[in-house]
Amino acid sequence: MAYIKLLKTRRDNVPTVRKGKYQDIYQDKRWKNIVREKKRMNPLCERCESNNKVVPLTEIHHIIPFDWGTTSEEVESLAFDLDNTKSVCNECHDIEHELLNKNNTKEIWKNHKL
Ligand SMILES: [Zn+2]
Ligand SMILES: [Zn+2]
Repeated sequence: MAYIKLLKTRRDNVPTVRKGKYQDIYQDKRWKNIVREKKRMNPLCERCESNNKVVPLTEIHHIIPFDWGTTSEEVESLAFDLDNTKSVCNECHDIEHELLNKNNTKEIWKNHKL
């Protein structure tokens, strides 16, 4: 019984609606504007640049990942905030995400919000 219950709970937790929502974010006009602005303002990987390397941006990273938002309003305000984005190259993007995990950024961010 407990096993079935667990399965059910897990299935209920699969964020199907929210997943659709994330795909929408990258289709959203507001996101496309951010990409355009970012490419204009920071055409180089910001992380490489601070290490005195010139590498063109290949991806736009969210400093606070928008999927941490718990409501659709919060998700959107994180996703479409230019100040919450960083121009990165592939390599630095991996590093940024490693740092997010390593530095416990989610906990810090959640506590800061409260
Ligand atoms: Zn880089
Ligand atoms: Zn990222």
